[in-house]
Amino acid sequence: MTTAADRSPDTAAGLEEYTEAEVHQEFGENPNEVRDTNHYKDEYIKGFVDKWDDYIGWEGRAASEGTFFIDQLRARGVEKVLDVATGTGFNSVQLLEAGFETVSADGSAEMLAKAFANGRDRGHVLRVVQADWRWLNRDVHGEYDAIICLGNSFTHLFSERDRRKALAEFYAMLSHDGVLILDQRNYDAILDEGFSSKHKYYYSGDTVTAEPEYLDEGLARFRYTFSDDGSVYHLNMFPLRKEYVRRLMKEVGFQKVDTYGDFQDTYGQDTPDFWIHVAEKM
Ligand code: SAM
Repeated sequence: MTTAADRSPDTAAGLEEYTEAEVHQEFGENPNEVRDTNHYKDEYIKGFVDKWDDYIGWEGRAASEGTFFIDQLRARGVEKVLDVATGTGFNSVQLLEAGFETVSADGSAEMLAKAFANGRDRGHVLRVVQADWRWLNRDVHGEYDAIICLGNSFTHLFSERDRRKALAEFYAMLSHDGVLILDQRNYDAILDEGFSSKHKYYYSGDTVTAEPEYLDEGLARFRYTFSDDGSVYHLNMFPLRKEYVRRLMKEVGFQKVDTYGDFQDTYGQDTPDFWIHVAEKM
């Protein structure tokens, strides 16, 4: 069995020691049976959160996203934005730097602590709130012109009831002409191509690999391998089909849903890796 000492980054590099609990995700005896909306907090443990920025790569992501989100928001005269899936803060920091009044929410305290530190390192004081989407209105106050839920986050909800509840909470926190921007991995491609032709996603050159390890209509279990220190983490996610998400958005009340493809380099795959839904209340 791998111990914390085996998997911890080199302390000589100035990184702190990790405890076993900080690098060992608990999925129990049968990881493919873990299909639980509440499990995300156990997946984003300190070791993984500390590696998250290697995975998403702020510079590369800024280059591939360009000004897409900022353009969408500016075109609608948005001033106040609620980032409901702050993670380590990439989009929140981008929005602050573009001049939007931004509140940064997430259900994971570990993620928010990292986001706050990342913001501080870049000269910002993030307004962070720990809030689960299913009870967003209880913990976050005010009305927003836009809500963003990015980086394939909605995939963490495992029941339709949770998805409807979360979307209804987002809807309720938006101004009468507000907009929700929510993205997702292109699971249709993964599900329809079949597991045998599973696609590997390389980040930060080839130092981080994300690939499906198990797949069925109710679970996409991804393995994240970091070649710098050999650490391996997993996320259990629900493979959202594009048309299903669009339908749910319309059913909770969004009047217009436009879906964009993300055409970043996908190593020869000609379909987008991500879909971005832009849902308007009116
Ligand atoms: N947006 C960030 C990014 O692009 O790097 C983070 C993406 S990460 C895949 C998903 C984030 O959603 C995590 O920070 C996680 O804590 C958060 N999350 C998942 N389920 C949640 C829920 N039910 N309520 C609130 N946050 C949740």
